[in-house]
Amino acid sequence: MDVFVMGSDQRSVRCARVSFGRDEKVDPERDKKLLRYLFRHKHASPFEHNIIAFKADKEDWLNILREFENPTVQIYYSGGYIWLNLRSAINSLNYLPQELIEALEERFPTTWTIVQKRGEVEDDELSSLNYTTDKVFLENRIDTGSGWVGLVDRLELGTDMDYYTFIVECPLFVARQWHRHRFGSYNEISRRYTAYDIKFYIPRILRKQAKSNKQASLEEPVPEPFHSEFLKEIERLIEESYSLYGKMTEKEVAKELARGILPQFMKTRYYWTVPRIALDNFITLRTHEGAQKEIRELAQAIKELVGYRGTDRKNIL
Ligand SMILES: Cc1cc2nc3c(=O)[nH]c(=O)nc-3n(C[C@H](O)[C@H](O)[C@H](O)COP(=O)(O)OP(=O)(O)OC[C@H]3O[C@@H](n4cnc5c(N)ncnc54)[C@H](O)[C@@H]3O)c2cc1C
Repeated sequence: MDVFVMGSDQRSVRCARVSFGRDEKVDPERDKKLLRYLFRHKHASPFEHNIIAFKADKEDWLNILREFENPTVQIYYSGGYIWLNLRSAINSLNYLPQELIEALEERFPTTWTIVQKRGEVEDDELSSLNYTTDKVFLENRIDTGSGWVGLVDRLELGTDMDYYTFIVECPLFVARQWHRHRFGSYNEISRRYTAYDIKFYIPRILRKQAKSNKQASLEEPVPEPFHSEFLKEIERLIEESYSLYGKMTEKEVAKELARGILPQFMKTRYYWTVPRIALDNFITLRTHEGAQKEIRELAQAIKELVGYRGTDRKNIL
């Protein structure tokens, strides 16, 4: 059976640890316990960043869907392959071919043991399990004016469902636009948990509002002396709000509330795993001149990293 897999035990761990901003930290013993915790507590979204494709007939796919009673499970068919992520695989365990299960056991040895034992794995057994890691953390990274995007991994079989995982760092308002692209998986740093590595984007140029289009801006800056004054004022307000945040958290105000004082220029960071069809849709919409410059530059960077196959597909709206 042809089985292709993107990810590892460690991939889920990294995507979970991004909540604390500590996704670069690797420690197999702690990582295995985290995987057990994620499973036991149904924090399953980090598993979505592992992707599986296996050769099958359309009829095999339809049979799985017919058998299956959980409508939230996402199993797709494209290019002669059934595509699903590890979360969906866990949820459809009883309907998948045995050879595929064996391939998953091999690729995700710790996760798979935890799943099969429904989370009932003692520490001793956990430490004896094999644990798979990522070969490369970031294949490539492109910095833009407001943030950066890096390619973590890809699974390319020449189909619409080829998958890509990126890390993105960008201001909050860009992330809000980005997360409107629903066909994909996200795991993001949580400012409820951590005050680690807080950074802000300060634009170099305060672009003028466009008159013709209410949501657009011009390349032209607002005139002096306002431009310099506003930039100074922005910096001062960011410093003040960050300082108040620090004072509040020091006096044990919960981070989930204290963060409310931090401006939208604050940066966030997330993993994004997305199929080619939705990625091309993202590139089309977000490299368009109608998109905001900050997200446009990041979308352009993604296009440079992994290319673009166009959106002349039929039945796409
Ligand atoms: C310039 C610009 C301005 C925008 N302004 C606004 C705004 O003012 N307010 C606002 O709320 N949003 C705004 N958006 C966001 C926009 O409405 C989309 O949510 C966003 O672009 C994601 O596109 P999508 O739905 O095609 O992508 P995805 O969510 O990734 O979906 C991919 C594809 O899956 C299918 N799909 C996904 N979900 C569904 C569903 N529930 N039902 C049927 N088909 C589905 C569609 O074929 C879709 O193209 C703006 C976007 C742009 C580019």
